[in-house]
Amino acid sequence: MARYKVVLEREKCIGAATCVAAYPERWELQEDAKVDIKGEEVEKTKDNQEQVLWITEEELERFKESAEVCPVNVIHIYDEKGNKII
Ligand code: SF4
Repeated sequence: MARYKVVLEREKCIGAATCVAAYPERWELQEDAKVDIKGEEVEKTKDNQEQVLWITEEELERFKESAEVCPVNVIHIYDEKGNKII
């Protein structure tokens, strides 16, 4: 099954939370007014400025919606070959 890589540039998130409205099961606003991707399988850089989650096709549409509504475009999705989907 195809997999997709969701990347959050957390450093640049302005906490608008429209991604949370689009997919509340996977985004959570934190006390520092930035979001986290929800899930134990989320990979975070040491400084937590970037988060990565590998997903399957099943969640692709919801994550695409989240990326589309982000006003500062800090949510990115790539396919397995590294091509940018959004
Ligand atoms: S929509 Fe974008 S800026 Fe707003 S909380 Fe989500 S990632 Fe951050």
